[in-house]
Amino acid sequence: MVKSRLDTIAAIATAPGSGGVAIIRVSGATACETVGAIFEQAKGSGIAEPRRVYVGHLLDRPGGVVVDEVVVFAMKGPRSYTGEDVVEIQCHGGSLVSQRVLEAVCDAGARPAEPGEFTRRAFLNGRLDLAQAEAVADLITARSEDARRLAWSQLDGCLSTRVAELRETILQARALCEVALDFPDEDVPEPSNAELHQQLTRVRLELERLTEGFERGRLRYQGARVALIGRPNVGKSSLLNALAGRDRALVTPIAGTTRDVVEASIVIRNTAVLLMDTAGMRDADDVVEAMGIARSRAAIADAACVVAVFDRSSSLGPEDEMVAELIRGKSTVAVLNKADLASRTTATDLKALLGSTPIIEVSALTSDGLGSLCDQIGRLLFGSAESGASGDDEVVIFRVRHRDAAKKATADLLRAEAALEGELPLELVASDLAAAALALGEIIGDMAGEDVLDRVFADFCLGK
Ligand code: GDP
Repeated sequence: MVKSRLDTIAAIATAPGSGGVAIIRVSGATACETVGAIFEQAKGSGIAEPRRVYVGHLLDRPGGVVVDEVVVFAMKGPRSYTGEDVVEIQCHGGSLVSQRVLEAVCDAGARPAEPGEFTRRAFLNGRLDLAQAEAVADLITARSEDARRLAWSQLDGCLSTRVAELRETILQARALCEVALDFPDEDVPEPSNAELHQQLTRVRLELERLTEGFERGRLRYQGARVALIGRPNVGKSSLLNALAGRDRALVTPIAGTTRDVVEASIVIRNTAVLLMDTAGMRDADDVVEAMGIARSRAAIADAACVVAVFDRSSSLGPEDEMVAELIRGKSTVAVLNKADLASRTTATDLKALLGSTPIIEVSALTSDGLGSLCDQIGRLLFGSAESGASGDDEVVIFRVRHRDAAKKATADLLRAEAALEGELPLELVASDLAAAALALGEIIGDMAGEDVLDRVFADFCLGK
């Protein structure tokens, strides 16, 4: 079957698995008829009146057998999520029930939606712009309060509004140039170079501020990666489990068991922190173990900061020296673990090995000292301020696509400014401004091609 933008589509909108209720969403010109044909209530069938809740039976086909008792309501386009007629069916929240309801809807004439197709239609019907559509996916996958706030403010139109304003200023400047070019003999005054220049510089500086804030924005949204390293058996996995509060990593007294990087996500100062437990540092012949060490090096390189773990209950050895060597120059907090056992290595011993690296004594077993460790990780990641990576409501970009478009627009504006400074022909200024406006338009999806849309919506889950 050839898929068309005009098809009525259907998908299970709730997450897979069992739950109280599952929602099947149907969108398209025939959504109401399609569902109405297999919906039966005590007083006749149909879901004629929009924004009214109907309770009844959903049948496997018109006049067929009951699949489930459901709640149904319709929203007429354009006042719906997709801008089309939308029907939502709430059934009992089992995987099989929701699957059967979806099949019945598809048998009645809808086709299964592709990932992100509802939101894509919302975008195509002007219900959201592209940055807002992306924010829908970002809101769904947000892992920390800070990430949620950021995604929500983007969905609320914060970035789109700012980008549209900047673009408007550029387009106005371009219009001034075009008028002067189109009517050279008329009495149209040439725009003042100084004024134009000033305007464009203002826009460019704002775009530069946006791109400069990208790394910070990404940290706020994605969270920071923190690598846990140390020789085998110092208690890295135990520490990760204690911090994450759940058994994510395998803990065992046999040296060298953690051969893969195991991750757990915790939240420090409202920001997600992804802890990566790496294979133990060891000068081993074992190939798998050696590969683990290579991975540890990669994890360190990839991490925003490192937690280097040492065992307080045993003496420092050559492997610990290797760890000290690996973290040189890297933002690190040292952990002297197993504080509940008798000490054979003191903070002073460790200081002699590590110099100025902060040292925190903890016990992964009793959880003593974990609060101080989180505070220290927070300080390394976000500085000494009390807040996390957030703290303000400025417009922030955290998607590579947005940063690249803003960078492209910045470069175009710089060229336009240089052309004005060099008193080059206005044509050049106008064409640079057109390019800058186009680049900014990409952020909100103005004139975005199918390829851009395919890339953006490929990341969406089914039913969204
Ligand atoms: P890894 O190889 O560095 O990941 O070390 P593990 O987390 O597997 O721990 C090695 C052994 O040390 C296990 O037997 C843990 O139970 C034990 N261990 C880890 N942390 C502590 C601690 O704080 N106190 C005590 N007493 N034992 C610990």
